[in-house]
Amino acid sequence: MMYGIQLKRTFFHNFSPNNFFLLNFINVENPLKTDFMKVQEVGTRGFFFSFDDPYRTNLYVINGEQYLFICDTFLGPEPMKEVLSFLEEKEFTSKPIIVFNSHHDYDHIWGNQCFKDSIILAHNLCRKKIEEIGESDLKDYVDHKKGDVELTLPNVLFSEKVIFVEEGVEFFHSPGHTEDSSSCYDQIDEVLFVGDNIETPLPYLRKLNLKNYTETLDDYIARKPIVILSGHDDLMFTDKLIRENLEYLKNFAPGKIDRTDFTKKHRGIHYSNLTTIGQVLKEESKNEESLLYYKEARLILDELEQNPQVDELKEKTDKIINELSK
Ligand SMILES: [Zn+2]
Repeated sequence: MMYGIQLKRTFFHNFSPNNFFLLNFINVENPLKTDFMKVQEVGTRGFFFSFDDPYRTNLYVINGEQYLFICDTFLGPEPMKEVLSFLEEKEFTSKPIIVFNSHHDYDHIWGNQCFKDSIILAHNLCRKKIEEIGESDLKDYVDHKKGDVELTLPNVLFSEKVIFVEEGVEFFHSPGHTEDSSSCYDQIDEVLFVGDNIETPLPYLRKLNLKNYTETLDDYIARKPIVILSGHDDLMFTDKLIRENLEYLKNFAPGKIDRTDFTKKHRGIHYSNLTTIGQVLKEESKNEESLLYYKEARLILDELEQNPQVDELKEKTDKIINELSK
């Protein structure tokens, strides 16, 4: 099939110790759309799709013997149609498709509607969270929609793991970034897809679940994957980022994180994590504890280059600190 797609190919073949993984970088640009989709071939049967608009986001496809596995569905039907066109051209789509949602965040599930007749696999909390906040996310992030998004829920749920034994493909619960966060492990190619559990330069926290989160990252390292893929980063061939994220999580507490080498981006994420956890503790009426998080968040704002936006955040943070100090 022709889709007016321009293909540009470059081959890289010296990145892994034994050249087992021949990576085939293909840039696919559809001149009809502003979206940019990049496809990287991984291992013997994997395809790593990346989009840059509105921010870098990835999904992963495993072309199994009996099934075509699609990990995450990005921001809507438009980009997913491009992904499907690519897979159709390769004649992969004659097999039944199994979709997997790594977690409930909108940027990983809005393309689900293209797979209404397929199995959409996820952790049971993923479906529950989409039921709870899916509609409000549609309104809150309306600018990020790619096409006419129709919320489509996962329809096959697991609580611990699902293994497609004959295929060597495993989906397992890996709480961290969110409670429902789950990962995919290709046992044959030793490729690990972690959703948003690791992120450059620091992970985003939603709640104080540091024990679960660090256990998840320890488990990732123990698997010794050859390739690591995440929802928003480049393809990785070492566990360096997992170890860096783990170090941050192990030390995450007010006054415990060394900020000497922090960049603006580190500070932004750290500020976000401190205020997120501060807010969670405040809602649990743990005011004294919450105050410690907000006080460190306030310090971060002083360390940033000052501008009206930072001033606004300072004002907001000071207000909360005053409330908590009463
Ligand atoms: Zn995400």
